[in-house]
Amino acid sequence: SSTEPYLKNDLSATDYRGYKGHDMLAPFTAGWHTTDLEPLVIQKSEGSYVYDINGKKYLDALAGLWCTSLGGNELRLVAAATKQLKELPFYHSFWNRTTKPSLDLAKELLDLFTANKMAKAFFTNSGSEANDTQVKLVWYYNNALGRPDKKKFIARTKSYHGSTLISASLSGLPALHQKFDLPAPFVLHTDCPHYWRFHLPGETEEEFSTRLANNLENLILKEGPETIAAFIAEPVMGAGGVIPPPATYFDKIQAVLKKYNILIIADEVICGFGRLGTMFGCEKYNIKPDLVSVAKALSSGYMPIGAVLVSPEVNDVIYSQSNKLGTFSHGFTYSGHPVSCAVALETLKIYKERNIIEQVNRISPKFQEGLKAFSDSPIIGEIRGTGLLHGTEFTDNKSPNDPFPPEWGIGAYFGAQCEKHGMLVRVAGDNIMMSPPYILSLEEIDELISKYGKALKDTEKRVEELKSQ
Ligand code: PMP
Repeated sequence: SSTEPYLKNDLSATDYRGYKGHDMLAPFTAGWHTTDLEPLVIQKSEGSYVYDINGKKYLDALAGLWCTSLGGNELRLVAAATKQLKELPFYHSFWNRTTKPSLDLAKELLDLFTANKMAKAFFTNSGSEANDTQVKLVWYYNNALGRPDKKKFIARTKSYHGSTLISASLSGLPALHQKFDLPAPFVLHTDCPHYWRFHLPGETEEEFSTRLANNLENLILKEGPETIAAFIAEPVMGAGGVIPPPATYFDKIQAVLKKYNILIIADEVICGFGRLGTMFGCEKYNIKPDLVSVAKALSSGYMPIGAVLVSPEVNDVIYSQSNKLGTFSHGFTYSGHPVSCAVALETLKIYKERNIIEQVNRISPKFQEGLKAFSDSPIIGEIRGTGLLHGTEFTDNKSPNDPFPPEWGIGAYFGAQCEKHGMLVRVAGDNIMMSPPYILSLEEIDELISKYGKALKDTEKRVEELKSQ
């Protein structure tokens, strides 16, 4: 019946797709999903849209996986890749050999990141590898300084930093730990800065931030400051539900970290390159990081590439000690892959030429205000976001403490309705997330909001039906 608990993940069950029981062990996909359900197979993209193999068109409200900032068919990126593929499809960057696109891209990245001075860029293939690299760099740094005990990392509950062993350990989402024997013992988690969900009665945002900074300080003191190496944070939490920081949060957190000589790592994998209306999230929240991770919009998702930016201080220590410790023995075959670097260089060039920051700031108010207008829905607990990032959390009675029964699958139902109406969003439990391409036209924002509204109406009806049973 239509009121049967809706357990399907984020796709509606359809018979026509033709890949039931396929052969891929699919990432972040439930086991039943691959065996019982047909996957949604995307075949082509065009601007802000993607099409499935049956020709159905979807507004790509998540920009692939928070990455295709320039949309689906930016031919300049195709040309940059093709040119590089013809000239030099591959050469590595080990042992003081390298390629020009990787050197050029490192320089561009250092110029672009202005929140704090950075000295070097190290290339990876992904955000997860960037965050794994952070841990190795910080350990190498502390070993070089003769501080072998200063090795622990503090991350935050609900953060997402990747899914390799170490980056999944840093992540603060239980699903990434359970059944994987994670997190690794050197990783500690402190509070998620989600004011709506976690503030005490009567507590202002500033007071909430003060309490979280105090909790962080207490954790550091309990563990021993001489054992804490670094703190890692996304400027705005992404996959944990799109959670912008409460007022004064980063000021207060940074003061504590400075006091105990703890390095600050900014995970800019989602926020970087304009998504928040500033080139980096660090600029928006006045974060002064020692190390930065980037990926995703660095190449508009067209080629896999990530990077770690390293402060002069950390870099100097690593280099000055390299005679004692030997070669910096870390790197990937594809660190600084010339095709990925060529595409990233062209992406950054397009961001500059089209003044992408201005573009994001021009369209994001309409996106944010249009979605905020749904705040009164009886099934929405909170609507949040900034720039071109959006999160909706479904709860009953507008309260963070009244979740819908998980077996109702309200978030999944909403996601399936969006898909039915021709739009792809991210579903995680009863959280909905969107991070559309920067190229959205104002008309496409109207379309996005209208589709969201239709899916919301369907979902409100569904909740009424389930409640009346
Ligand atoms: N950090 C953040 C903030 C992310 O959102 C992600 C991916 N969603 C990662 C790291 C991991 O990146 P990747 O999937 O490229 O390994």
